[in-house]
Amino acid sequence: MPERDNRIHVKAGDIVMAQGEAGHCAYLIESGRIEILLTAPTGERQFIGTRGPGTLIGEMAIIDEGTRSATIRAIEDCALLEISRADFARRLDGADPILQMAMRTILARFRDLMQRSRLMHDVAHPPLLTVEDVERDHAHLPGAVEAITIANEFRPALEAGEITLHYQPIVDLRDGRPAGFEALMRWHRPGRGPLSPDIFIPVLEASGQIVAASDWVLREALRALGRIEAGSGRRGLFMSVNFSAQDFTTPDFPDRLLEAIGAAGIAPSQVHLEITERLLMAKPEDAQKTLTRCRQAGMGVSIDDFGTGYSSLSYLRAFPIDTLKIDRSFVTDMTANDNSMALISSIVALGKNMGLKLIAEGIETRDEAAMLRNMGCNLGQGYFFARPMAEEAVTAFAAQDRTIAF
Ligand code: C2E
Ligand code: CA
Ligand code: CA
Repeated sequence: MPERDNRIHVKAGDIVMAQGEAGHCAYLIESGRIEILLTAPTGERQFIGTRGPGTLIGEMAIIDEGTRSATIRAIEDCALLEISRADFARRLDGADPILQMAMRTILARFRDLMQRSRLMHDVAHPPLLTVEDVERDHAHLPGAVEAITIANEFRPALEAGEITLHYQPIVDLRDGRPAGFEALMRWHRPGRGPLSPDIFIPVLEASGQIVAASDWVLREALRALGRIEAGSGRRGLFMSVNFSAQDFTTPDFPDRLLEAIGAAGIAPSQVHLEITERLLMAKPEDAQKTLTRCRQAGMGVSIDDFGTGYSSLSYLRAFPIDTLKIDRSFVTDMTANDNSMALISSIVALGKNMGLKLIAEGIETRDEAAMLRNMGCNLGQGYFFARPMAEEAVTAFAAQDRTIAF
């Protein structure tokens, strides 16, 4: 019966699932109607109800491996979308840790309740809640505890000055001179050391605090750019700031950007927004509107981690972007892996054909720098040139304005 992807079609009168059988998936009714029937221990069939398009049936199967508790029969021809237990588990694994914890705890309790009630009615029934289930559920608790702690501590940490920005130079690959910087958040917790942005940024996104955080980063980074230019005597440098999908959903986002630019006394062309493919796809209409306004005002828009996020390139045509940042993973691999090399040269060719600028990130060696320059990449970023640094150090770096031969 399975046809395209996960859709199945059943005819009126077909049994979709039978009471007592093992169940491996739930179904979302796309079209048609079904009826739910229950066979009592006496053999008598009871009619429970009917369900139509948009409802979920057989959902217990995505929770545990118990047998179907009722029979479902199509009363019309139906199209059903299958949701397997594995698919559900995968979606849950990808969810925010607090959501995962809540869901897993509720599911564990629910299984426990079911097990007790089945045991009460049927002592021969095998236990549903195994030791492995409980261990698996509880393995996710530390992540959730950490996420809640981070979410609670962020605002006070910001106020206490524990959150700072580092600036990593982005250099012109023709001569190694700094062209701009990327602002990167740093969180140093007294007595506990640094916390990586790869850990706390997703928590801020999940807890809704990222919009306030981005706003702080933006204002701080743009003011710092003014000071770095004044301190180094260099002009026309740019500052790249990372944004998350939620930043783009606030309608006044472009106005706040323009206001921060005005307050810092820099030109809009000195501001580059770094966004990911994932962000564009989360809210394409919002992103389209916001980015168009930002580009019209003169700001740059870079696709960060390019090549890792999304399998379709059609968005390159749809969104007003001007720079691709080739993901660090390709650069790291380029000398050892022919496929990474091929990918990079394809991205460079694609960017060039579309009139986009190219930044390679994660350049750690002279060889990588030289190869990327020879391939036609415009700008480079990575430990080979400079690490992310505090404002004072990055001002001194810009003041040297030295060329790097490679
Ligand atoms: P990203 O935007 O891809 O930033 C580049 C990351 O690569 C930074 O990690 C940087 O320190 C690191 N990096 C730069 N050059 C090299 C190199 O040569 N080798 C290696 N191994 N790494 C290099 P960091 O600072 O840990 O930031 C991690 C991620 O956290 C960032 O990845 C970005 O996605 C996110 N992030 C950091 N600050 C912010 C922020 O203010 N807002 C948002 N939304 N995200 C941020
Ligand atoms: Ca970035
Ligand atoms: Ca990146």
